[in-house]
Amino acid sequence: MKVARFQHEGEISFGILDRAESGDGVELVELLADPLVAGYDTTGRRLKLEDVRLLAPVIPRSKVVCIGKNYADHIAEMADVTGGGTPAEPVIFLKPNTSVIGPGDPIIRPEVSDRVEHEGELAIVIGAMAKNVSEDDALAYVFGYTCANDVTARDIQIADGQWTRGKGFDTFCPLGPVIETDPELADARIVTRVNGEVRQEGSTAQLIHSLAKIVSFASQAFTLLPGDVILTGTPAGVGRLVSGDTVEVEIEGIGILRNPVRDAVDA
Ligand code: MG
Repeated sequence: MKVARFQHEGEISFGILDRAESGDGVELVELLADPLVAGYDTTGRRLKLEDVRLLAPVIPRSKVVCIGKNYADHIAEMADVTGGGTPAEPVIFLKPNTSVIGPGDPIIRPEVSDRVEHEGELAIVIGAMAKNVSEDDALAYVFGYTCANDVTARDIQIADGQWTRGKGFDTFCPLGPVIETDPELADARIVTRVNGEVRQEGSTAQLIHSLAKIVSFASQAFTLLPGDVILTGTPAGVGRLVSGDTVEVEIEGIGILRNPVRDAVDA
């Protein structure tokens, strides 16, 4: 099931994607409330997808947890920035929830950075409060999965020596377009394109630390709340974004997250 959060005539609602009753196109079945807390009762209203504006499918209540160094080919390409070597435990950091934007919203390159880069990633959306959960139990706490872009001001990440500012600017966490609650993720393709050209290509089969391990590990440190999001790391091929670019993160079975890029001075 694909869950969307959307705006229609000024109101924000949640919905489930469904084939149009006419058989032509896709519609949203509107939900009474946020399915993370209120289940799937519907209002009975159906809306055409092209008549609504999709928003970030979730606004993390407290945090976006991110995993670094989780694909071997990306560790290799970043060896001069973050040091080579595969970590025994997941590398973990946070983005503020104020960095989240939705599909179509512009990524704003801050004036203080000249090297803003894309990192296409699979994102986990937490569905139930999780603390100290085992790997065996971890996936039971997951609501679903969406596409994410761990946008990074690489020059600031390097200059600061830690990652909070370089990865935490407003607009640096695009999420969407929908949350898939029941994906097939054993070997799902993750592709990042800039202006239609493939820059990153990988598969969830290449994750060093599994999705269950990541949720369990994060929950040993932080209480995970419903609506919290965990970014799971990026494959090789990260690269620069400039004003005027359009960046897409596509994950098989979930959809395409597309965002334009602008300079702060033009925004
Ligand atoms: Mg990343």
